[in-house]
Amino acid sequence: MKTDFQDLKPSPRVLLGPGPSNVHPRVLRAMATPLLGYLDPEFLVIMDEIKELLRYVFQTENDLTLPISGTGTAGMEASLYNIIEPGDRVVVVVKGFFGERICDMAERCGAQVKRIEVEWGRIVEPEQVKAALKDGGVKVVALVHAETSTGVLQPLEEISQMVHEHEAFLLVDAVTSLGGHPVKVDDRGIDICYSGSQKCLACPPGLAPITFNNRAAEAMRNRKSKGQSWYLDMTMVEKYWGQERAYHHTAPITMNYALREALLLIFEEGLEARFERHRLNHQALLAGLQAMGLEPFAQAGHRLWTLNTVRVPKSVEDARIRRRLLDEFSIEIGGGLGPVKGQIWRIGLMGYSSSKQNVLLCLGALETVFREEGYQLAAGAGVAAATEVYS
Ligand SMILES: *Cc1c(COP(=O)(O)O)cnc(C)c1O
Repeated sequence: MKTDFQDLKPSPRVLLGPGPSNVHPRVLRAMATPLLGYLDPEFLVIMDEIKELLRYVFQTENDLTLPISGTGTAGMEASLYNIIEPGDRVVVVVKGFFGERICDMAERCGAQVKRIEVEWGRIVEPEQVKAALKDGGVKVVALVHAETSTGVLQPLEEISQMVHEHEAFLLVDAVTSLGGHPVKVDDRGIDICYSGSQKCLACPPGLAPITFNNRAAEAMRNRKSKGQSWYLDMTMVEKYWGQERAYHHTAPITMNYALREALLLIFEEGLEARFERHRLNHQALLAGLQAMGLEPFAQAGHRLWTLNTVRVPKSVEDARIRRRLLDEFSIEIGGGLGPVKGQIWRIGLMGYSSSKQNVLLCLGALETVFREEGYQLAAGAGVAAATEVYS
């Protein structure tokens, strides 16, 4: 057995990958405070505050809004497992890695899944959704708002209207948009929406905020068969988070402290200011990357502010560049997944990580590594272009 254990001393990283993102010191401090019991009256107040703040960030008045204990994927399962019954017809838009995961889960629920395939890096067009709905009988249309594997932001308005004309439910993954882009659950008529704590909410991974509107909550409560997950059964989870306070599982107390603090930081900053910060930093980073000769991957006009994707230049080696950024600058950026593995980089600017300081640091570090790896570029071009955006 190993006996030479060292002190836990992780390097302070600048997390500019696809998540987790950096956590605000106030959130870390909140996590070092003493535990309360899961039914302590003080903890119940904290739970109510979290629900209130989640409604603010989701831009909804939905009663059934709470954090699921688990990462974003648990939010995905809770959404699908509670609404889908065996035999239900479900349309899933697959335009990246996470759409694929939704399909897998919907199949595990016994749904008849119809996939809408979209080329990676592009949005789904409303006509494609319309075609998938035309035979009728569809219960759920599921899609990803901010596809973290491609850097694409999906417009939702038109699709939402169509889905509701067919009396189906619109289920949206907002893991990489909540807290960085407007999600507008109520305005857009999103019936079920989930996210994760570690991306634009700038909290450690471990909780998955979720919201159901009344129509979706009713459908879930009136389902004919029991859902296959006990742990993620919202009809039981909602009893603990609602008035009954019935024990279901022990809430991860510390993670809830963290989420409360992270949400409070968003409330203090204000949603509009926060969106604007994400937009501006994205614009500056992308201008810098383009000035360095890098080509954006995501479809123009539909690029995420929270995650920037660019093609890896032919003359450099993907993994080597990322490793050097990590070793020499303590900066993490993401590589490509699936069909774009080795071909794109994913540079996240999420939550606390979305700052001018990080944009300029990242561009400067990339330039240094590029030069040493023999990639030709004009000195200072990236930082200059970004600075121009800020001025
Ligand atoms: C990260 C992510 C998930 C999964 O979240 P985990 O916290 O890794 O379980 C789901 N959907 C999208 C779009 C994501 O970016």
